[in-house]
Amino acid sequence: MSGGRAHELATSLAEVRQRVSDAERAAGRPAGGVVLVVVTKTFPASDVRLLAACGAVDVGESREPEAGRKAADCADLDLRWHQVGQVQTRKAAAVAAWADVVHSADRLRLVGALERGHRRALEEGARPEGHVLEVLVQVDLGDEPPGGEAGGRGGAAPRDLAELADAVAASEGLRLGGLMAVAPLGVDPREPFARLAELSARLRRDHPGATAVSAGMSGDLEAAVSAGATHVRVGRAVLGARPPIV
Ligand SMILES: *Cc1c(COP(=O)(O)O)cnc(C)c1O
Repeated sequence: MSGGRAHELATSLAEVRQRVSDAERAAGRPAGGVVLVVVTKTFPASDVRLLAACGAVDVGESREPEAGRKAADCADLDLRWHQVGQVQTRKAAAVAAWADVVHSADRLRLVGALERGHRRALEEGARPEGHVLEVLVQVDLGDEPPGGEAGGRGGAAPRDLAELADAVAASEGLRLGGLMAVAPLGVDPREPFARLAELSARLRRDHPGATAVSAGMSGDLEAAVSAGATHVRVGRAVLGARPPIV
């Protein structure tokens, strides 16, 4: 049974890696430049182990306490853990105890909570001395109500990006990595991803090191790589359909 799952994951991971490298080539980008974050939310730690055995390094999670437990279960593996989903302010400290990269900072209150949570994680030894939490600012490319505690696809309004980026950059223990977005549903993703690339260029005028552009999921990773994404976050195309979240 687990042999079957190992084979299944090895095959689908290879397929997704091929999609990413085809997209890099089609875009005239150097091979291997895009980071594939495999989003394992709702799937067991045993799947993370099988993926790690296939060379996966970057793992994405979304919800507490599932994420923290899985990261603890896999603490012996050399993985980089990404928080890709929205973070409730009261969960920020829990996330800072296991995440290496948070893709979804979308409000000032959360930035403050991540800074405090990360400091506490260092003090308590949950994170090694000198550990820096990389934080991406999530931008809302649709016209849904701004994200926040209530859910939705999330993200800050583009006009609030500069202030949020400055706050991350000024926070001790946090490093501003760049931007993240989820393409709005029901539109050609090329347009929002192009807008994200423009916002990233603008951000880099003030923060030259904030080069990450996290965009693209199972259904639209080619469009994201074509628009300059540095990170794609892929769940279903590697792990299969997720059980519905209730
Ligand atoms: C779940 C999730 C993903 C992965 O989505 P798939 O469609 O399964 O590839 C990517 N980004 C975020 C923010 C997610 O919550």
